[in-house]
Amino acid sequence: MPMILTGIPASPGIVVGPAHLLRWEVPEVPPRVIADHEAEPEIAHFHEALAQATTRLREVRERASKHAGPAEAGIFDVQVSIIEDAELRARVESVIRQGFGAERAFDVVMLEWREHFARSQHAMMRERVGDLIDVHIRVLSLLLGLPDHDPVDLPKGANAILVTHDLTPSLTVQLDRERIIGIATDVGTRTSHVAILARSLGLPAVVGLLEATTRLESGDQVILDGAAGTLTVRPTAAELAAAAARAAHERRSRDELALLAGAEAVTRDGVRIILRANVDLPDEAAAAAASGAEGVGLMRTEFLVVGRATMPDEQEQYAAYVKVIAAFGKHPVIIRTFDVGGDKLPVGGFPHEANPFLGWRAIRMCLDQPEIFKTQLRALLRAAVHGDVRIMLPLVVTVDEVEQSRFLLGEAQRELAERGVAHRADVPLGIMVETPAAVMTADALAERVAFFSIGTNDLVQYTLAVDRGNAGLATRFTPLHPAVLRLIERTQRIGAAAGIDVCVCGEMASEPLMAYALMGLGIRQLSVSAISLPAVKRIVRGIHASRASEAARGALAAGTAAAAEFLLRTALEAEIGAPG
Ligand code: PEP
Ligand code: MG
Repeated sequence: MPMILTGIPASPGIVVGPAHLLRWEVPEVPPRVIADHEAEPEIAHFHEALAQATTRLREVRERASKHAGPAEAGIFDVQVSIIEDAELRARVESVIRQGFGAERAFDVVMLEWREHFARSQHAMMRERVGDLIDVHIRVLSLLLGLPDHDPVDLPKGANAILVTHDLTPSLTVQLDRERIIGIATDVGTRTSHVAILARSLGLPAVVGLLEATTRLESGDQVILDGAAGTLTVRPTAAELAAAAARAAHERRSRDELALLAGAEAVTRDGVRIILRANVDLPDEAAAAAASGAEGVGLMRTEFLVVGRATMPDEQEQYAAYVKVIAAFGKHPVIIRTFDVGGDKLPVGGFPHEANPFLGWRAIRMCLDQPEIFKTQLRALLRAAVHGDVRIMLPLVVTVDEVEQSRFLLGEAQRELAERGVAHRADVPLGIMVETPAAVMTADALAERVAFFSIGTNDLVQYTLAVDRGNAGLATRFTPLHPAVLRLIERTQRIGAAAGIDVCVCGEMASEPLMAYALMGLGIRQLSVSAISLPAVKRIVRGIHASRASEAARGALAAGTAAAAEFLLRTALEAEIGAPG
């Protein structure tokens, strides 16, 4: 029987293929006690599982390093070193000798270690928790004789759709487009890390399916519709034919839109809009430039730390930034300093925060670790020699954060000068406006920075008190809520009065109706995912800024998000018909 699961559209595209179900979770361990004479064979069984796990990890590492790169694949070396840890082995052996089966002994010890690491004072240890969880799952599965499968095991050309609870760093580095053509996850929302990553990779994705991993089986044929947010399991012939027709239609409209790459982004009443791209991985830069982006409005740099075993050094960062800058010639490239935390965690993250989105995130973490921050700033100042680089700080809440960052930027510059390394000293420093605090103090901030870029993913989350990653709250995550619209309008007005650039780089800018709303609020610079850029440009070219502004005035005065949306949608449809 066919079954349609509905989730949240995360990355457009329709694909059909077999589901590759990956249950990456710690398996249940049935109770089992052993007699004294069984201890040694049990320990031998344990060692065998460790050896198998090591072999598997080396294979996975080898393959992941081919398409994700050796630094990214280093995550698996950390896991091997955990498995080889003598103290861990000795502790498990001692629990086995107390009369427990190997799987129970390993489970108990791993839980102890995870707890201990998670509570550590040392960030380095806390960051290992994710690796411990991966090792816990892998070795326990081997001990219990459960299937042990990694996405990289899929043969080339498998064209599978990865169905998993969440996309952990160790799964992310295994995403090889020659094997996986789509992603479906139980958790996540449009603005969560997995969705942003899928869009960057150009992989169709549906997130927030809640129970995809329990409702379907590996090998089931599925249709994943990333624009509609659906997963059709075991489709009928008619559904397959309809999917093929929609996919062909999508391809045609993509080809048509691609013709717009060279066209100017000007409204029908002559208002010029600057469209830039959000770039999450250096490898996407060339495609983003080809889509017609006039530079990069937001280069996220978290790929350098999320899921990695070690922090990247100055040289590695420099090379990554230069790759993006080179793709954009003289156009501006706005690079954001590390926004780690929230749902973008370095390996294992900071598991002991009760509220990670209100926690030690982004600029807070950077200011508390000046050596890490300055390494990034030095790499940015060096890269700035090659183009129009601008530095952007995430999650700013106070003026102090800007001043402290500027102080560290000065130190980074002096360090480079002392080393005699080529760099640019006068790189513009701007901020993300993504908290109500930043909006309400925008006047003070505007005096201290060169530009504002509104991060609506976080601004909506912090204004409406709706966790951006909680699929269960997705319908309450309403960027067109008048409170959000008023904050955006205020930021734009204050930025314009101060004579600084104001851009919107949150996901709102990538959606036609919302891009229309933003232009109506006076925004003239949008930074969008490369995949959405042509569709947004078509909206720009089809509308009158004056009519958008009239509709936005109504939306600002509306009582609810639904009322604001109705006004905006009616106005947009009157201009160009229903947005795609
Ligand atoms: C935002 O918050 O809107 C944004 C662009 O940043 P991120 O999604 O990386 O938090
Ligand atoms: Mg943000």
